[in-house]
Amino acid sequence: MTKELSTQDYNIINNSIRDILDFPKEGIVFKDITTLLNNKEAYSTLMNHLSARYATYKLDYIVGLDARGFIFGAALAYMLGVGFVPVRKKGKLPSKTVSAEYALEYGSDTIELHEDAFEGKKDARVLLIDDLIATGGTAGAAIELIEKIGGKVVENCFIIELTFLDGSSNIKKNYDLYSVIKV
Ligand code: AMP
Repeated sequence: MTKELSTQDYNIINNSIRDILDFPKEGIVFKDITTLLNNKEAYSTLMNHLSARYATYKLDYIVGLDARGFIFGAALAYMLGVGFVPVRKKGKLPSKTVSAEYALEYGSDTIELHEDAFEGKKDARVLLIDDLIATGGTAGAAIELIEKIGGKVVENCFIIELTFLDGSSNIKKNYDLYSVIKV
C-alpha cells in the first residue's frame, strides 16, 4: 500500500459509505460509516492507506474524537505503534480534564481531554482524527485542547470532508489537513 490512494482504492472506500437521508433530522444527509466498517475490503484498504501515509510522521499520539474517531484512531495507533488518546463529550473522562466549548447549529457542546494525556511529554507530536468534518467546530475545539496541554498538532485527518460547508478552510490557515474522501 502506498501513501497515495489509487482511484480504485478511493472508489472502494467511497462506495462503502452509505447516505441516510433526513437523519438525525430533516434536510441532513448523514454519512453512515458502519457500512465501511463491516466491509472488510473497504476498512482494510482505508486503514492500510492511513498507516502508509502516517508511518513517517514520527507521531507520539493519535487523538480520536468521540465517538467514531475512536474506531479509526485506535486502529491506526495500534498499526503505527503509538499511543491513543480519546477526546470525549463532557462528563465522561474520570481524571482531571481541560475542556472547550464549541458552537452547534442550535446551542453549544463541550468536549474534554485528560490534562495528563500526553504523559508530560513536551511538544508531543499529535495526529487528530475523526470520521467527518462538517463545519469544523468540533475539530477546532479539539485542537485548542491538544495545545492547552502542550501537544503539537502535526495533522488533522478526516475520513470524509463535506466540502460545501467549507469547515476545513479555517483549520487549514494554521494546520495541515487531510481528508480521504471529499464530498
Ligand atoms: P462539525 O463540528 O460541524 O465539523 O461536525 C463534525 C462532527 O459531527 C463529526 O464528529 C461527525 O461525526 C458529525 N457529523 C456532522 N455532520 C455529519 C453528517 N452529515 N454525517 C455524519 N456525521 C456528521
